[in-house]
Amino acid sequence: MKKFLSFALALICLSFALFQAGCKGCNGCNKDKNRTKYLIDVTIEDNLLTGVETVDFYNDFSVPVSHLEFNLHANAFRKDAGYKPIASQYINKAYKNGFSYGETNINLVTCSGENLPFEIVGQDKNVLKVTLPKEVFPNERCTVEIDYSITLANVVARTGINEHTVNLANFYPILCARDSGGFYQCLYYSAGDPYFSDCADYEVSVTTNADIVVASSGKLISQKQTNGKNKCVYKLNSARSFCLVLSDEFKVLKDEQDGVEILYYYYDDADAFGSVDTTKKALKLFNEKFANYPYSTYTVVQTEFLQGGMEFPGLVMISDALEHEAYLEVIVHETAHQWWQTMVGNNEIEHPFLDEGLAEYSVVLFYEKYPEYDMRRKDIISSCEKTFRLFCSITDKLDGEVNTSMLRGLNGYSSEYEYVNVCYVKPCIMFEYLRQSIGENKFFNGLKKYCSTYAFKNATPDDLIGAFESVGANANGFFEGFFSGKVII
Ligand SMILES: [Zn+2]
Repeated sequence: MKKFLSFALALICLSFALFQAGCKGCNGCNKDKNRTKYLIDVTIEDNLLTGVETVDFYNDFSVPVSHLEFNLHANAFRKDAGYKPIASQYINKAYKNGFSYGETNINLVTCSGENLPFEIVGQDKNVLKVTLPKEVFPNERCTVEIDYSITLANVVARTGINEHTVNLANFYPILCARDSGGFYQCLYYSAGDPYFSDCADYEVSVTTNADIVVASSGKLISQKQTNGKNKCVYKLNSARSFCLVLSDEFKVLKDEQDGVEILYYYYDDADAFGSVDTTKKALKLFNEKFANYPYSTYTVVQTEFLQGGMEFPGLVMISDALEHEAYLEVIVHETAHQWWQTMVGNNEIEHPFLDEGLAEYSVVLFYEKYPEYDMRRKDIISSCEKTFRLFCSITDKLDGEVNTSMLRGLNGYSSEYEYVNVCYVKPCIMFEYLRQSIGENKFFNGLKKYCSTYAFKNATPDDLIGAFESVGANANGFFEGFFSGKVII
């Protein structure tokens, strides 16, 4: 995800201000063909995206399904949104040219040529509900076609037009993930990453003006230019979402690591080769430590972004506003999310610390492995401890109490300061203490077990505990102490 503690800065300045708000050997992505498939065809012209999305829904639930629910994340940018997508402290940076709004319009939903009834529901017009012509039983499929359009706001955000790029996260209605309560409707909280979706197979066709360079989550499988337009088709299997970034300023560097094609799109990076080198090092290390990266391409994109960066399957956004050291660190953090969020999913609204904590600790592993970055594990953890203690001290003085429970959803945090400390800093300390407590073998075996057991599935905090217990680490009490907030750091 995006907001992160910059270790580089943490060593210099331990204060509130240091927080930047911010297929090779494919192991499983193609084995299970029983996934929902998206066929998306979009055209982008100025601030309007028009699309037709064919969703071949596969019911992997244990009960019949009579309707489908899709999150409409891009609808959060409309004028009357109840949940504002931009936190108040970022308004001026996000809306550089004044307030601007976007919205999603659903024009038609059909099944085999027949119109289907649909409605926009959810607490904040955030969900498209489509009634199916008949119940879809477990292991059965049903195909629906959605004709839609999205007006893009001029806003520096995951979805929107900014000075240099067009960020196109969530540019289509995406099926809500399903848990024991049914379809999970995501509210677009401004803090954290308000997402939860299941893996699916994607084929995405994008038509733009011919001078636009497209960075994509998937592998390019065809490209055609006609009448000043460029049409690219991409594929990506077993992904939780699909993301695009467009720009007429992009330069591209290509490289390779462990059989994975690396693509780096940028417009302002004096050390572009260094950025690619860091990406390669991160992929190499995490391939060794966790599991093989699951896709055939990995795309790193420089773009305008309010926080440090943002992860999507096969593609990460890195903020062009970062200083060099922080820029490289964010590349590592977002790359780690390819294992902790892209591969092992979790409900980012309910348990945001799960993937953020592991991504942060993966950065520690990176610095430990590559001493040339001049960041030592001991110093980083020490900085985290000081930072967290300062947070506790300040919060105690201001509020008279400190809640350090990690088992909170995004709506349980009263400030970004609290969110960053509990979801990033504290779990980073937790994983270091766990490693010291159970030893190297059990620690890394536990991480591998967690990754292999929940790859392309969704994990919970209990599943994390279970993975370490299954490799012989008596970790239940340890984790419970951290999760509940009882442990004093
Ligand atoms: Zn993150």
